[in-house]
Amino acid sequence: MPQAVVIATGNAGKVNEFCAILNDGAFSFFTLKDIGFTEEIEETAQTFKGNAELKAKAVAQYVASKHKDYWVIADDSGLEVEALDGRPGIFSARYAGENASGRDRYMKLLGEMEGKTNRNARFVCYLCLIKPECEPEFFEGICKGTILPEPRGSGGFGYDPVFLPEGYTQGFGEMNESEKNALSHRGRAIKNMLKRLNAQG
Ligand code: IMP
Repeated sequence: MPQAVVIATGNAGKVNEFCAILNDGAFSFFTLKDIGFTEEIEETAQTFKGNAELKAKAVAQYVASKHKDYWVIADDSGLEVEALDGRPGIFSARYAGENASGRDRYMKLLGEMEGKTNRNARFVCYLCLIKPECEPEFFEGICKGTILPEPRGSGGFGYDPVFLPEGYTQGFGEMNESEKNALSHRGRAIKNMLKRLNAQG
């Protein structure tokens, strides 16, 4: 029987990546919509790890009353840019205001990067996994790279069109799903989680 897992995010790009990476039949996925969770979770923590934990806990609490054996995975992630002292960082989703599009955000970023010679950046992903009656567990993934001078490609989501991963000639926006997942921050965090789960048997 596949393990039921709730992906605690409303971000369709993240859900697609989780399902693509964890697609070996061992898991069956539920989105927040599937379980009827409509609450807006305020990301009030000051770290990716803290925000992942509060999202996972809010959803786990909701799920526990209905489905005692479901696992919950929450992802908090974002882009840290060296020349901007780590911004947008934990504010990546809200960088250009609440109702801005992905394009609005990366165009704002490109504007802030004008004239900067240091274009180093990294994507960071923290996962919080909550299993019933267990302490939360955390898994990290990082992908280093640079901010492109202009957008390239239309794949992925968020800041993908302006991110060039280290050692590659194609940006995240030009890669297909499996190429991105093989090296992305989220792909790495998920693989770290799987290593731990497999080691536990
Ligand atoms: P949050 O984790 O829901 O706070 O949102 C993270 C934000 O970071 C997303 O809305 C995107 O703007 C950005 N982000 C996180 N992961 C990725 C990625 O894999 N590609 C592009 N942008 C990302």
